[in-house]
Amino acid sequence: MSQDGQLSPLARAVRAGFDTDSQYGSVTPALYPSTNYRFAGIGEDKPAFDYSRSANPTRALLARTLADLEHGADATVTGSGMSAITATVEALVGPHGRVVAPADCYGGTWRLLDHLAARERIEVDFIDMSDLGRARAALSRPAELVLVETPSNPLMRITDIAATAELAHARGALLVADNTFCSPVLSNPLDLGADVVLHSTTKFINGHSDVVGGVVVSGTAGLGEQVQHWANALGLTGGAWDSWLTLRGLRTIDARVRVHEENTAAVVEQLADSDAVARVHYPGLPGHPGHALAARQQRGFGALLSFELAGGLDAVKAFSSDLRAIDLAESLGGTESLLAHPATMTHAGMTPQARAAAGITDSLLRLSVGIEPIADLRADLAAALERAARA
Ligand SMILES: *Cc1c(COP(=O)(O)O)cnc(C)c1O
Repeated sequence: MSQDGQLSPLARAVRAGFDTDSQYGSVTPALYPSTNYRFAGIGEDKPAFDYSRSANPTRALLARTLADLEHGADATVTGSGMSAITATVEALVGPHGRVVAPADCYGGTWRLLDHLAARERIEVDFIDMSDLGRARAALSRPAELVLVETPSNPLMRITDIAATAELAHARGALLVADNTFCSPVLSNPLDLGADVVLHSTTKFINGHSDVVGGVVVSGTAGLGEQVQHWANALGLTGGAWDSWLTLRGLRTIDARVRVHEENTAAVVEQLADSDAVARVHYPGLPGHPGHALAARQQRGFGALLSFELAGGLDAVKAFSSDLRAIDLAESLGGTESLLAHPATMTHAGMTPQARAAAGITDSLLRLSVGIEPIADLRADLAAALERAARA
């Protein structure tokens, strides 16, 4: 608690909705699955909630909690991270408007922007966003929206949010930060100059790999209204049950992220010490090109890392077979450790040329470190590294 007796946003998230049940005084908030709400009479004021695509009490509670955690004015909860990105682009980019996005952005985001550009809805340029010179050059022409994703997926490149926001604003563009990898525990991009923050809540926010969802948090009420309008018009808003589950997952985010990070530090050390590993990409390593910047703009280095095995694709296959504590699966940010092969899994939607340009080789593996006891992870990785070395 701060000196003025206010709870911190993370403490408020633990208790979100605790004072809302006036009927029974239930401690945790009720779930409102109803799709519709009664009107008092013809010509009388509309009820606060009328139809759940437009507004729902359970979704509104999750939205308020996430807006609070991201220090935003307003939030729209959507059915997925991709619908959060869709709502943002439709709301904030006009006809043929130009978007500048990272070449190594989330594979689904890359595909969406690429396909919208192919249909001439938008114009898009994919650049190395971690290189401020490239961003400056790209913004020598007008743009409407600049997207940053930091750390990036899967190479963990770090983008200077404050400096990129300044470049974007000088061109009249809005800066949108996909903060999925950091979660609000480690970073609040709105405080660094971003105009809008979005998340795939599927990842750390829900944190239990059992809900697909997204959120767009806006720095101003005006931007928030535009996003809400388009999310409703396009039918992208999230469901009540998913919102309720996501709120339950969210309550433990602070504790989860602390264990995720502790485990990740140990895993990074183990991988970096192995001869079977050619390179580890993790911003917590002093040799990582974005280390100092990440230390400055984040409150920790996160639970995602990628690494290149020395033995190529054969080593990748040997490493990934017969894992005990780690699953070979897409997604990230859940309580369980997940290993992904970006070239054939998460980033298979990119063209081979785009993958090569983004630096995603066939030897690259991405690890989302879970909250298992560290001894189990260490043993599983030791066996996997042995298999990779023999391959
Ligand atoms: C998963 C993810 C998305 C897409 O979210 P979905 O919930 O899968 O639609 C977008 N950005 C990042 C960084 C992600 O990890």
